[in-house]
Amino acid sequence: MPTMASFSLHSPPSHLHYHHAASFPRHFTVAFKTSYFGPKLHQKPLRISLRNRAMAAPTEPAVTTSTHTFDVVIIGAGIIGLTVARQFLVGSDLSVAVVDKAAPCSGATGAGQGYLWMVHRTPGSDTWGLTLRSHQLWKMFAESVREQGLDPLEVLGWKNTGSLLVGRTREQSMKLEKQVNRLREAGLRAECLSSHDLPLKEPALDVGEDGGAAFLPDDCQLDAHRTVAFILKGNREFGSKGRYAEFFHDPVTGLLRSNGHGKVEAVQTSKNTLYCKKGVIVAAGCWSGSLMHDLLRGSDIVLDLPVKPRKGHLLVLENFSPFSLNHGLMEAGYVDHLPKTVDLKNYASGMADQDQNLSVSMTATMDAVGNLLLGSSRQFAGFGTDMDESTVNHIWMRAGEFFPKLKALSLGDLPKDRHVRVGLRPYMPDGKPVIGPVPALMNVFIAAGHEGGGLSMALGTAEMVADMVLGRPELIDSTAFAVQGRFSC
Ligand SMILES: Cc1cc2nc3c(=O)[nH]c(=O)nc-3n(C[C@H](O)[C@H](O)[C@H](O)COP(=O)(O)OP(=O)(O)OC[C@H]3O[C@@H](n4cnc5c(N)ncnc54)[C@H](O)[C@@H]3O)c2cc1C
Repeated sequence: MPTMASFSLHSPPSHLHYHHAASFPRHFTVAFKTSYFGPKLHQKPLRISLRNRAMAAPTEPAVTTSTHTFDVVIIGAGIIGLTVARQFLVGSDLSVAVVDKAAPCSGATGAGQGYLWMVHRTPGSDTWGLTLRSHQLWKMFAESVREQGLDPLEVLGWKNTGSLLVGRTREQSMKLEKQVNRLREAGLRAECLSSHDLPLKEPALDVGEDGGAAFLPDDCQLDAHRTVAFILKGNREFGSKGRYAEFFHDPVTGLLRSNGHGKVEAVQTSKNTLYCKKGVIVAAGCWSGSLMHDLLRGSDIVLDLPVKPRKGHLLVLENFSPFSLNHGLMEAGYVDHLPKTVDLKNYASGMADQDQNLSVSMTATMDAVGNLLLGSSRQFAGFGTDMDESTVNHIWMRAGEFFPKLKALSLGDLPKDRHVRVGLRPYMPDGKPVIGPVPALMNVFIAAGHEGGGLSMALGTAEMVADMVLGRPELIDSTAFAVQGRFSC
């Protein structure tokens, strides 16, 4: 049984009610016909929006909640939410609000290493087309930056380094050969490099006699922080036209849903009521499942979105001088740590995620200012983001297996020149993001669950979401990412 609108439950004295009904904007009165869903109402009544404090009861503390109306409200200012916002702003005439409980880059996005690689991806897999399209869009984006007279390296941390997927054993080298053949058949430029070829390409790397690499010259990388700053700047330019607003440090606490036909009318945050004429996009990363659960509590809709946090550490060695990297690198074993394909209909939490323990696989990139980024760890450890020194040591030791010069250095000698990024990847047990409308709540769209590929897949996801909301034909088939029919809902 849906909870009644907070306005009815906690309505102010009748004279105030009367004054507000007369003086508030149209969308305020619409709110009386809505139902409120969300955790906060059960604990603490939502107070009515009183813009004119003189009308508030004298004993009441000041209430600052205000109302705004947009075409689209986006929950989450990570790379997914911000690129979806950008897509609506540049690709339509809709107005957009982005709301975040914290700030951009405070989620997984801020920890991201920034590689946009196809080298470790499987042609024909569910995410192949989306990732390929996304990379195409990123390359066009970098090109558009160049056309504006800006330097993509400076603005986005953009580098066309190419990528090396490296193996150290004969077995891995044979697998890499097969991977190169598959990537070529899928139309990508790909090359096999032997342990004799590699020193010319990447002098600091040592894979031993039996090792080798798959080389993709067209793979790229970006800097998540620089790129987010640039996207935010672009989005904000639409603010002066009344098409963009952001509400940061303002967590979403509820949904206002019109009675009868199930449409969400507004998103309730701790400080604002954001009416949405066209749709709501939930891009809250690893928090998307628990958020939807809380928002739908007490409603007639069940949505069990099994996205969960997968903690990752990334070690950043600033102004690193002992050696330089010409490419982005990843060890072949990385692929083993990616989510496996499971049937979510038969999924019970813990069943498909047997490996709850820490896993570390080597990734190495050099950013725009010469910092060496060493990754990365994976671990299911809840929503905490405390840095764990032993995990950092694991990353350091693993990197030393590939870069002998690191073995001559001690991590303890580098404390001033290093920092560690910790983030929560939005993990989906079946290894695919969720992109699509919520059944029975068709103006609410989920865009989450990209695990270790959210930067990579962001622009393709943004395009897909905008096409869905605008009713445009899809360029990439979204069936594999749908909410409907994939898990209990
Ligand atoms: C160590 C590490 C390295 C990585 N390297 C790469 C890489 O090289 N390439 C790549 O493609 N991907 C990489 N990833 C993965 C990538 O970072 C993520 O897939 C991506 O950032 C997910 O973006 P998102 O916008 O979905 O989530 P997030 O960035 O987590 O954003 C979600 C946002 O939702 C907000 N939010 C949550 N709850 C609420 C609420 N109630 N109200 C309002 N706002 C809310 C949060 O505050 C947050 O800002 C890496 C991840 C890690 C951890």
